[in-house]
Amino acid sequence: MNSLIREVMKVPIYQDYKFELKEGFITTNIELFLTIFNISSQKDRIHCPYCDHIETFMYYSSMRSENVSYGHGKVYRINSNDYFEYDDTKIHVNRISKGNPRVVNVQGYYCSMDISHKIDMYFALSKSDKEIVIRKIGQTPSPYELGLNTTLEYKRILDKFESFGDYQKSFIHNVYGDRIAELLYLRRVFEKIINKLIDDKDIVKELTIKKIKYLRENSKLDPETEELSGIVHGLLSKGIHELDDSQCGELSASLRYFIELQLIHLQQQDEKSAKLKKLKSTLNSLHEDHNKK
Ligand SMILES: [Zn+2]
Repeated sequence: MNSLIREVMKVPIYQDYKFELKEGFITTNIELFLTIFNISSQKDRIHCPYCDHIETFMYYSSMRSENVSYGHGKVYRINSNDYFEYDDTKIHVNRISKGNPRVVNVQGYYCSMDISHKIDMYFALSKSDKEIVIRKIGQTPSPYELGLNTTLEYKRILDKFESFGDYQKSFIHNVYGDRIAELLYLRRVFEKIINKLIDDKDIVKELTIKKIKYLRENSKLDPETEELSGIVHGLLSKGIHELDDSQCGELSASLRYFIELQLIHLQQQDEKSAKLKKLKSTLNSLHEDHNKK
């Protein structure tokens, strides 16, 4: 098990990892290097974007395409164990020749629940006298799609509030570590929900805090979390206007979770009222039919 795989999956495309070379050996960040080349890690528990659940992902390599191309140079696919010799303190990389870029490594994982659920990563490796640079050059599903997939779960209800695009953007910014922008889009989702839930034109013109008060008085928000609504809106606004990216990063998971609970509640309410409508019409027509007889 190696949680570094998850971290490598989340980093954006074109991220470089640099490994210093000393007399042909890598002696620092050995675990990271071995993870990227899948020597030390064969499986891990990862969020499957298709199952939308944490599942065990297994490494696979044999069925990879041989026709990977990158840049203008000659590209090799490597089978990690043929190229590296290593122990706990160093990795010998002399079998890789210098150049830019020389090697593409493909790392694939499949979900233990369904082998068609795959996550593939592509890396290019360049070597100089001083260092080895490994660049992530591709991933399917892409790092942001891994996040976007989870937004589909709420698409139907988000569409009702015309905020599906905003919710997706908040995920994209989250993946790229742009936390102020993430909060901006989360606030937009929350405000659109608030405004659409209000059926009084005069209240819509009021300050958000008054709108929230109105929604609580009219039991429009999730009853288990409604008392947090004012705090959440306050933190979203403070993050956007006053805090830096890392401070916003500390807030984002909790604020996102609050929004998610609202979406779950609204979705359930929606399904319940659709079922109720159907039930009423069925019972009314049954009643009519039986009264005719
Ligand atoms: Zn799966």
